[in-house]
Amino acid sequence: MVWMVGVDVGGTQIKMGVVSAQGRRVLAHRILPTRSYASPSKLAEGLSRTIEELRGIHGLPRRSCRGVGIGLPGLVDGSRGIVHQLVNLPGRWQGVPFAQLMARRLGCRCVIDNDANVVALGEWRAGAGRGTSHGVYLTLGTGVGGGIISHGHLVRGATGSAGEPGHMVLLPGGPRCGCGRRGCLESLVSTAAILRQARAAMRWGHRTLRACVEEAGELTPAVISTAAARGDAAARRIWAGVGEWLGIGVANLVNLLNPECVVIGGGVGNAWPWFSPALRATVRRSAFSLPARTARIVRGQLGVRAGVVGATYLLEEDRGGHA
Ligand SMILES: [Zn+2]
Repeated sequence: MVWMVGVDVGGTQIKMGVVSAQGRRVLAHRILPTRSYASPSKLAEGLSRTIEELRGIHGLPRRSCRGVGIGLPGLVDGSRGIVHQLVNLPGRWQGVPFAQLMARRLGCRCVIDNDANVVALGEWRAGAGRGTSHGVYLTLGTGVGGGIISHGHLVRGATGSAGEPGHMVLLPGGPRCGCGRRGCLESLVSTAAILRQARAAMRWGHRTLRACVEEAGELTPAVISTAAARGDAAARRIWAGVGEWLGIGVANLVNLLNPECVVIGGGVGNAWPWFSPALRATVRRSAFSLPARTARIVRGQLGVRAGVVGATYLLEEDRGGHA
C-alpha cells in the first residue's frame, strides 16, 4: 500500500498523520507540542524521528512512501521549499530550506507550504470544495488564514505569499492586528477579538454569558456559542458582528475573484450556525449580485483533519519539493 505523511505545524500543536494514498484514510496520527522544538533543525529531527517511529509500529515499507507534505504557519515559498517568515515558532526561520532539511533526513520527497494554503488544498480536493475550480478558503481561529484556488490551482503570487485575506484592511485605525498593523479582517474576527468583546459584555451584565463561562471554567468561542444558544443577547450580537465583518471581507473577495465557493473552516468556524446568517446577508448586500449568487458560502468539512489531509495533496502538485 502506498502511504504518505501529512504534517500540520501550528503555534501550539503539531498534528501529524500517516495517510493512505488511496482514499486518504488516516492510518495513524500523533500530536506533538510545538514548543519542545527550539529550532528548525530540532523540529526536522523530531518530525523525522516520529515518522520513522510510526512507520515501524505500523510495518510500512520505506519504498512505498510517496513523501511528506508539511504546512507551516507563516510565509513560505513552496516551490523552492524555503521559509521566508515564521514568527510563531521558536528559532530563526528566515531563509531556512526546511523541505530540504526534511528530505535529507528521511530520504523521500518533502514539500512545504503555508498552513492555510494546505487547508485550502484539503477542502478543495477532499472536502467542501470538491469538484470546483475557483474557490476561496478561510480558516478562523487565533489568526485568519486563507487560500485561493483559481482555475484549479493554488494562487501563490510572485514570491509565494498570495492568499492572505485575513490582512485586508477593513477598518483603518481599528484594533491592533497580529501582523502589527491595524484594522485587518483578522483584528476584527480572530479569537482574541471575539473574547475581548465577550469580556466587555460581561462587565455590562449579561448573566447568561457569565453563567456559561463559570460553568465551563473559562471563556472560549465555544462558550459564547453556548450562551447564544441559551438566548444571551450579547453573545448573539458578537456572532452577528463576526458575520458582518467576515461578510464585508468575503464580499470583497467575491467581487475580486468570482469564486464558485467560499469555504469557512477553523476552530472559530464551529460557530457557523451563529455567524453564517449575518455573513450571507452581508455578502448579498455588499457584493455584485451575479458573483454573490454564484458563490456558495459553506462550512469546511474536514474539521481538525484538514491540515494533515491537505498537506498530503501538496505531493500531487506538480512543482517543488526536495527528494
Ligand atoms: Zn493584519
